[in-house]
Amino acid sequence: MERVYLDYVSSKPIDPRVLEFAKRFLEGSCGNPSSLHSVGLEAKHLLEDARAKVAELINGENEKTIIFTGSATEANNLAIKGGALRNMSKGKEVAATAIEHISVLNPMKELQKNGFTLNLIPVDSTGMVDLVKLEEVLTKNTTVTSIMYANNEIGTIEPIKEISKIVHDKGWYLHVDATAAAGYLPVDVQAEGIDMLTLSSNDLYGPQGAGALYVKPGVKLQPVILGGGQESGLRSGTENIFAIAGMGEAARIAKEEMAQESERLKEMRDKLIQALLMIEGAYLTGHPTKRLPHHASFRFDYIEGESILLNMDRHNIQVATGSACSSKTLEPSHVLLAIGLKHEEAHGSTVLTLGRLNKVEEIPTIVKSVKETVERLRKLSPLSSREVI
Ligand code: PMP
Repeated sequence: MERVYLDYVSSKPIDPRVLEFAKRFLEGSCGNPSSLHSVGLEAKHLLEDARAKVAELINGENEKTIIFTGSATEANNLAIKGGALRNMSKGKEVAATAIEHISVLNPMKELQKNGFTLNLIPVDSTGMVDLVKLEEVLTKNTTVTSIMYANNEIGTIEPIKEISKIVHDKGWYLHVDATAAAGYLPVDVQAEGIDMLTLSSNDLYGPQGAGALYVKPGVKLQPVILGGGQESGLRSGTENIFAIAGMGEAARIAKEEMAQESERLKEMRDKLIQALLMIEGAYLTGHPTKRLPHHASFRFDYIEGESILLNMDRHNIQVATGSACSSKTLEPSHVLLAIGLKHEEAHGSTVLTLGRLNKVEEIPTIVKSVKETVERLRKLSPLSSREVI
């Protein structure tokens, strides 16, 4: 059977137009953008062109607001550790929602080990941040508050503009991880009052190996990686020009095609959700309407997400159970526990994310495969014959 890939939240294919644009840097050109000769200048030109395109995608004030990194993880570390350490004289408190990606939570926990106070802000059963609690925990000592634009496991979109107002009334910098949202939703750092914002190249259909941190003019950070002072001194090391040039082109295409593509994906998403909720003991996770246009996430009573994933892979349909980054542990996802699911409920999680290569004609095949898989696994499950949930 032909492959039906439904794990766009974990990894995306490089858009062929992006590859065509950036491959010149793999094929012949070899300059270091810090070199002053003409080959170096050509690399520098590609780097600055990419910076401008990424700034445009999120309406950054100018291209200098974009700092390229090696990944979204690195951008999150730079925002959180760099922001907290550079501004320690203002206070030693940081805050994040309980459903942030581990590349946000782990640097925060490291700060906590080093004497910072970490406030975890709860979310409701749909994954929406508790704004009252946010207002309660922030103080003038809270230098960095990190709240994601949209969650990668349950698709919920957070009210960033309202959050920004609370953060700026009480604390200092708002960092937003937009890895899962950029390219699908029209992110506007100026209109939404964002001080730092994380992006990933691959999540825009660009090459892996590049990420970016938007840093609002005036925001002060301490570098996490030291060396030759590239990227305005905030991220030393020779830039990965192929990946960065690709990320720029991917950002340009995403901006141009976002409105139409998100509408197309939303229609498919809604068809999938409607059909799969007809299965007995199937529940949507995340917000029913304020969710990413390509994101359909569920839990199924009595069966494990991993078994669904492996069974569907046999039909050549690739789905996820939660965050690919946490799949090495068999612990239930911290996101699903934070929205109030019991351990056994969280284990039944299955995440279907759509992308550019999916077509509406695939929906009946996907629905049939999920239904058959769930039925088959329930027959094998010792739990399904007992009322345990
Ligand atoms: N933030 C979010 C919301 C993510 O989904 C991911 C994973 N794609 C990351 C950060 C980290 O991205 P990477 O592993 O590419 O650094």
